[in-house]
Amino acid sequence: MSVCQKNKFYYKKPISINMKKNILFLIFFLSMLITNSQQVNYLDFKQYFKNKTMRMDYFHTGNSADEHFAVDRILSDGPWSGSKNVLLDELNLGPYFYEIYDNETGKIIFSRGFASIFGEWQTIPDAKEHWGTFHESIRFPWPLRAVKLVMKKRNYKNEFVEIWSTEIDASKRAVNPSDIISKYKTWTYMENGPTTEKLDIVILGDGYTSDEMDKFHKDIERLTEKLFAEEPFKTRRSDFNIRAVETPAEESGVNRPHHGIFKRSPLSVSYSSFDSQRYALAYDNRTIRDVASAVPYDFMYILINEQTYGGGGIFHLYATVSADNKYSDYIFIHELGHHLAGLADEYYSSSVSYELPSVSVEPWEPNLTALFDKENLKWKKLVEDDTPIPTSWNKETFDKQAIETQRERQKLRSQNVTEGVMEKFFDNQKENETEMIAKMKYTGKTGAFEGASYHQFGLYRPYTDCIMFTRNKNSFCPVCQAAINKVIDQYTK
Ligand SMILES: [Zn+2]
Repeated sequence: MSVCQKNKFYYKKPISINMKKNILFLIFFLSMLITNSQQVNYLDFKQYFKNKTMRMDYFHTGNSADEHFAVDRILSDGPWSGSKNVLLDELNLGPYFYEIYDNETGKIIFSRGFASIFGEWQTIPDAKEHWGTFHESIRFPWPLRAVKLVMKKRNYKNEFVEIWSTEIDASKRAVNPSDIISKYKTWTYMENGPTTEKLDIVILGDGYTSDEMDKFHKDIERLTEKLFAEEPFKTRRSDFNIRAVETPAEESGVNRPHHGIFKRSPLSVSYSSFDSQRYALAYDNRTIRDVASAVPYDFMYILINEQTYGGGGIFHLYATVSADNKYSDYIFIHELGHHLAGLADEYYSSSVSYELPSVSVEPWEPNLTALFDKENLKWKKLVEDDTPIPTSWNKETFDKQAIETQRERQKLRSQNVTEGVMEKFFDNQKENETEMIAKMKYTGKTGAFEGASYHQFGLYRPYTDCIMFTRNKNSFCPVCQAAINKVIDQYTK
């Protein structure tokens, strides 16, 4: 380094008074800009809402081509448990989206994305021939003044368009502000702070008799602790509150039509939803919501007192899991990924009841891409420079094995073999797949790997393996973790 250069490097020109003024002005101007951009979405909760939850129950009716809404009742769902700061949903998740507008100012004051059983049912062949009606609820803070509710759904370009709207005026006799007096016993498993600053999960149980309530508590503890052993839940444990509501059943277990076992349980959970043996959902939304109303909640889990492999997870509705299967911890965490963050299944070789349209638009799910715009890959920030997009993996070998595995799985299920036999089958599959994936060149790197969400081609997932892809391990890939973190932020900020 020459002296000349050194001088040039170290020489500082004295700052003139005028320059100081300019710098101060610049700082002031920049701080105003930042404050204004924060104010764009800032809403004063107290100006628009009471500290109370309004729940609108409605019927969602239609067929594959058409859908309609009819209000059932509008009532109180207890104290508000969501954030009082993040009122507008900017995550852009879910096939449906609702917005609340203040009538007086015309301002949007609340919004949330969600998915529904109706929305899934619309994609199965039955919806082409029959009409279906599903009971649903949406929840939002109790508006002080008359509001308009706007329901939106994604169009073929995946943009939200209005499909229905209705007026809500809390001062009218049709709105019931009375809180429910719950007859059910509640249990707090984890409490880390005020509901409006934490993500509150309510856990319900179906098919547990009054003698099995200790088991219900132990199932909650076991599964919850498995969840909090995985990221991002491990790091963010103190952001959660977890409470349970007990609904004792007259007999143990729930409805399992594929096994010829028919039961009526308090929450009406049933396997064989959409005629898929492992898909366990509950359609009695009115009852479930009234039960859940015993405690404040943002998200809901229903534990099923069964060993038969099964569960389900619908974004912002609830997730279900059979509590006694060898893979219950995997199902518990996987289904919460759907329910909490709208994550897509990254697997593609399992059979499903849905009719799958060809991919013509970028999916909204945070862990899926169609790679139409490689340069603007939604998880680009997590991809290293030397990882090619799309990213190669031993797909042909994997697919060959997966096809054989699926054929075998269907054969075993059709023979109604015991859960023990199925669990052994899953163990073998896990061993083979774990070994195969571990050897791949880009395992452990974020990229875009072809094969995801029931599509062998044309859709890409971010990692060779993730709990949304296989049962190999219980961890989420970095892209899924980032998506979950954003949702936790929405409820805790
Ligand atoms: Zn993932």
